[in-house]
Amino acid sequence: MSMTGRCLCGKVTYELSGDPIASVVCHCSHCQRQGGSAFSINVVAHESQMNVSGELATYEEWGDKGDQVYVRRRFCNTCGSPILSEITLSEGIIAVKAGTLDDTSSVNPSVEAWCIDKQGWVNLPGMAVSMERE
Ligand SMILES: [Zn+2]
Ligand SMILES: [Zn+2]
Repeated sequence: MSMTGRCLCGKVTYELSGDPIASVVCHCSHCQRQGGSAFSINVVAHESQMNVSGELATYEEWGDKGDQVYVRRRFCNTCGSPILSEITLSEGIIAVKAGTLDDTSSVNPSVEAWCIDKQGWVNLPGMAVSMERE
């Protein structure tokens, strides 16, 4: 299976080949801020499955202790659309922002993470696994 996607302005396009590992909803406050939304929807895959054309900017998130980067959020440097996050604690694992896919019909998240930050009105159906944190 192969999926394609792009940012809002179209300067960044990508192809995701092979089957993703999982689809995960993330309720964390950082995803809420970055996306300006209640949660992010992520197609989790290996970095090697993703092929990006166009220029991405990078925002590095440092852990609470300030000693290591734990997420690299990568976004279009023209329109700001979040494209993917590199999960540095799981080397080579990326979370592709599912709202940027050309065809979202195969996205069917069954895992939700960081429920501790979930907005009060949100109650998603079909979640097999709910995690307080990542
Ligand atoms: Zn763009
Ligand atoms: Zn998050």
